[in-house]
Amino acid sequence: MNKPNIIVINGQEYLFTPGETILTVARRNNVDIPTLCHMKNATPTGACRMCVVEVQGARSLMAACTVPAGPNMVVRTESELIAKARRMIIELMLTSGNHEDCLVCPATGDCRLQELAYKYQIKAGRFPKTKSRYDLEAVNPFIIRNFSKCLACGRCVQACNEVQVNTAIDFGYRGARTKIITKGDRTLKDSDCVFCGECIQVCPVGALIPKDAYKKARICDTKSVRSTCTYCGVGCQVNLHVKNNEVQHITGRGDAAPNFGSLCVKGRFGFDFIAAKERLKTPLIKENGAFREASWDEAIGLVAERLSAIKAKHGADSLGVLTSARISNEENYVVQKFARAVLKTNNVDHCARL
Ligand code: SF4
Ligand code: SF4
Ligand code: SF4
Repeated sequence: MNKPNIIVINGQEYLFTPGETILTVARRNNVDIPTLCHMKNATPTGACRMCVVEVQGARSLMAACTVPAGPNMVVRTESELIAKARRMIIELMLTSGNHEDCLVCPATGDCRLQELAYKYQIKAGRFPKTKSRYDLEAVNPFIIRNFSKCLACGRCVQACNEVQVNTAIDFGYRGARTKIITKGDRTLKDSDCVFCGECIQVCPVGALIPKDAYKKARICDTKSVRSTCTYCGVGCQVNLHVKNNEVQHITGRGDAAPNFGSLCVKGRFGFDFIAAKERLKTPLIKENGAFREASWDEAIGLVAERLSAIKAKHGADSLGVLTSARISNEENYVVQKFARAVLKTNNVDHCARL
């Protein structure tokens, strides 16, 4: 008797919801199917073919990311035939670009292609190498586009168009000439790109890397520390990739609200201030047109004295307090409390007020 909504994967029966793909059902049940192009929450494209599986009765291997699970479908996710197909795909990807420099590539240790090449024990040299048609592009402050490492997997295109909805890039040209392009194939700096860096985060190889990647530690050599972006009140969740007590990279946390991995240009790239030598570490008091360092007690005492003097001369409503989305709710509460209870004014405003 037919069992509706049950699929058999590697001999095990699993329930599925109509419309789910084989890959979704497999992943939900911790069955590993390797992918390169697949991106959660984006339209599956089947571009890389790494996820091929055997489906009983089918004449060829099927891409698990695009084929819907069906009642009584019988699937195998690992076999000699599947491994052979995956090896061939990996070998072709490795030969169709500049992947000889793994040792000095910023993506090493965080590269899906490298990981799969190891898993399937790829031996180089079976196919002749093909040269990249396109030069490396670095004429912008944030992103290096190394077309010689691009697999044309399309993850960056999906991230830009479906996740960030910036529609700055797409596939261009055809066949062996395929290239990820901006409108008119201009450089990123002359395009609609807003440098959110989402494409870097989803690129499975070293084709898209931060501009300063070669000066920083590789992600695999850093320790990941969860934090909250301090640039605005959205409170995006980030991973700080830290080495020697210095932040080397920031990436969005895919598993946490409100951003689920996405960041803006400030949150992703604007962190050099953390270790900047010019950063203020002590209060400064201006005297005779020049700043001098002061203790916190002295600075707070001076502010209290000046506020009291203004209030005494002009009244409490001559004072006002402007606060910021870059501090916490609790700190904002304290600031308004200070204005109302200490200064005795309701002149309180906030940069995030609508
Ligand atoms: S992109 Fe990946 S496979 Fe290519 S050189 Fe860099 S680490 Fe190696
Ligand atoms: S940085 Fe952002 S806007 Fe620019 S191409 Fe990448 S995803 Fe699109
Ligand atoms: S740049 Fe990266 S994410 Fe974009 S298509 Fe090439 S390999 Fe894929």
